[in-house]
Amino acid sequence: MKKYDIVIIGLGPTGGTLGNLLALNGFSILILEREKKIYSLPRAVHFDDEIMRVFQTIGITKEFLKYTIINKGTKFVNSDGKVLLDWPRPRSITENGWYPSYRFHQPDLERSLRKRLLKFKKVSIKQNSHVQEIENKKDIVNLVFKDIKNDKLHKVSCKYLVGCDGARSTTREKMGTKFDNLGFTQKWAVVDLILKKNKDKLPDRTIQYSNPKRPATYCRNVGKRRRWEFAIKDYEDENKILSNTYIWNFLKPWLSQKDAYLERKAIYTFRSAIARKWRKGRIFIAGDAAHLMPPFMGQGMCAGIRDVSNLAWKISLCIKNKHNEKFLDTYQSERFSNVKEYIETTMRMGEFVNAIGSDNITGNISSGPDGSKSMQSIKPKIGFGLGSKTDKNRGKIFPQLKMKNGKILDNKFSTSPVLFMSTKLNKLKNLSKIPTVGEKEVIGLSNLLKKYKAKGIIVRPDRFILKTCKNTKDFNQIKYLPI
Ligand SMILES: Cc1cc2nc3c(=O)[nH]c(=O)nc-3n(C[C@H](O)[C@H](O)[C@H](O)COP(=O)(O)OP(=O)(O)OC[C@H]3O[C@@H](n4cnc5c(N)ncnc54)[C@H](O)[C@@H]3O)c2cc1C
Repeated sequence: MKKYDIVIIGLGPTGGTLGNLLALNGFSILILEREKKIYSLPRAVHFDDEIMRVFQTIGITKEFLKYTIINKGTKFVNSDGKVLLDWPRPRSITENGWYPSYRFHQPDLERSLRKRLLKFKKVSIKQNSHVQEIENKKDIVNLVFKDIKNDKLHKVSCKYLVGCDGARSTTREKMGTKFDNLGFTQKWAVVDLILKKNKDKLPDRTIQYSNPKRPATYCRNVGKRRRWEFAIKDYEDENKILSNTYIWNFLKPWLSQKDAYLERKAIYTFRSAIARKWRKGRIFIAGDAAHLMPPFMGQGMCAGIRDVSNLAWKISLCIKNKHNEKFLDTYQSERFSNVKEYIETTMRMGEFVNAIGSDNITGNISSGPDGSKSMQSIKPKIGFGLGSKTDKNRGKIFPQLKMKNGKILDNKFSTSPVLFMSTKLNKLKNLSKIPTVGEKEVIGLSNLLKKYKAKGIIVRPDRFILKTCKNTKDFNQIKYLPI
């Protein structure tokens, strides 16, 4: 039986990102995907700066950037066209080193992730492979998958298994854990169009139509792509709603068949749910397998990418050093509250779009002198897992900094924790088990150390702060890492 370091089930955006992050460490990885082709129905169109930073770590941004545009933001309007709430996304670079919000076409991302995976000799991708059995042993995971082309069964084993196998996850089922329904269930139709001409008079940003009769969303996507989503009632006939006649009639206020081609259409039931357990022994779930949210904030896929950015380096340290139960438990404890906040905010946004909720979607709404209201993006901290509860900076994202020699720090360090140090603590340099960077080498580090009132900052490979250190004792926090 062939043995791998890691087996990943599912090659959507979550599995593709995880495969790439783990491959940076040189592990042997098998990715099993049931489908022959990339999923073709309309799905994600938005992601943020934190996610682009993960793509940078993987090394796909240079090529993938061509397939993205910077998103200007979202306006919520009522049925009379009055703007109820503005959610602008500033066109300036954030601490993550990227713009706050991007538009993209999910198949373009999945293609980029797959292309990159092919560069790693120790990564095998098997499509048409349906995982059927998973056996969780103390030191190993065994699994059985079926080759759909010839119905042959194959057995493999691995040190760790991650189910990135989507909403109907086989892994979640085999782990014996359940989704808790967080309360949002609504059917929506989604239609993607491609404009026939280069120029159009459609809005230059996302519009949420808070219209109680037919709540709807318009998205300005990359190039000539435009999307409309609209809520449908349970009693409405799905075939009728998806008929070309119905769709073109719905689109009348914006465009007609002479303006665009209908590319793809689908009906989804948008749900909000979260799995109770994300790990059992050496088995994990991530992405839609672990949580679901409606797409109003464009954060479902982003949450899955945050999951695997958190999990990849933890699994890596456990393979390189030793399996550590408590350390691996921090995956769920850090990710759960973060994703829950995104789900709950998205649900409030959904209520607002349905014209039944309050406009206090994020708790961060400001009013202008003319009564206009605007909201800001949320950036929830990760939950408690590693580091010290008394450290206020624990779990904050560490900015992307440049070295004085012109190198970008994120590109230099992508697989190990890094210690950023004040020159005053130079004597500790040789004691540290992890790479160390001094104040004099990095632009802006002195100011950052002042801001955090720290002499040193330990940063994890996923770019979150593990610990801000004030004295030599604080550096012992490294003990939380199995290195
Ligand atoms: C209309 C819509 C709009 C959206 N917009 C956004 C947005 O703008 N931004 C955003 O961040 N998110 C958005 N989302 C959510 C986003 O698309 C999903 O969160 C994301 O695709 C989930 O990725 P995943 O890799 O976790 O799962 P999936 O993409 O579902 O991939 C799971 C894979 O596992 C495979 N699989 C399943 N079971 C097995 C098995 N037993 N054996 C082998 N393979 C298996 C499946 O074939 C599939 O390819 C949107 C969703 C919808 C529906």
